Amino acid sequence: MIVLQQALVSANTQLKEMAETDELTGLANRRPFTERLETVLQADIPAGLFMLDVDYFKSYNDTYGHLEGDVVLKRVADALAQCDILPHNALLARIGGEEFALVVELVSPAQLTAIATQLCYLVEQLSIPHQASPLAVVTISIGSVFLPLDKVSGLKMPDVLRRADVCLYRAKDKGRNRVEVEVI
Ligand code: GH3
Ligand code: MG
Ligand code: MG
Repeated sequence: MIVLQQALVSANTQLKEMAETDELTGLANRRPFTERLETVLQADIPAGLFMLDVDYFKSYNDTYGHLEGDVVLKRVADALAQCDILPHNALLARIGGEEFALVVELVSPAQLTAIATQLCYLVEQLSIPHQASPLAVVTISIGSVFLPLDKVSGLKMPDVLRRADVCLYRAKDKGRNRVEVEVI
């Protein structure tokens, strides 16, 4: 009976892990990301929210093929996950095709900008060839918002996500391979 219970617990843990993991990159998927963001907003924890998106990725696939595209996503994910810029309680997730999100707790606006800038540079420095991109290497753009105390600001998750997206679009508009930060 005990053995059966243990097997059930272990199977449940495995299932939960699978449900929260992105298969391609091994990063967290959207679910743990939204949970963490909700926690940060509810608990009045100052934090940074980052939206990261690979630049000109459609033309990467068109040039090198979808499978090579997958390899790039994995390389970018590994580089971001393993870099020593991020505190180890940071939550990095793949939330869509070529989109990643990051929640870093207890940062200041200055740290937020420094982190985003370094992450952008880190990906550029991987020097993954991308003929169809102006820099001829794979780059990312980042939109980031500094989250103040939720109870003071009254901000809800959809507002926060929208504002980070607006920053990301601004980074794209300004030429990509760059960071746009907003302090809410
Ligand atoms: P931008 O610089 O504005 O972000 O341009 P973009 O081409 O990266 O953006 P767009 O949204 O036009 O294209 C995203 C592309 O990402 C389209 C799709 O082919 C590719 N993509 C999405 N998910 C995956 C995936 O899992 N694997 C691969 N290889 N490609 C993917
Ligand atoms: Mg995109
Ligand atoms: Mg893109």
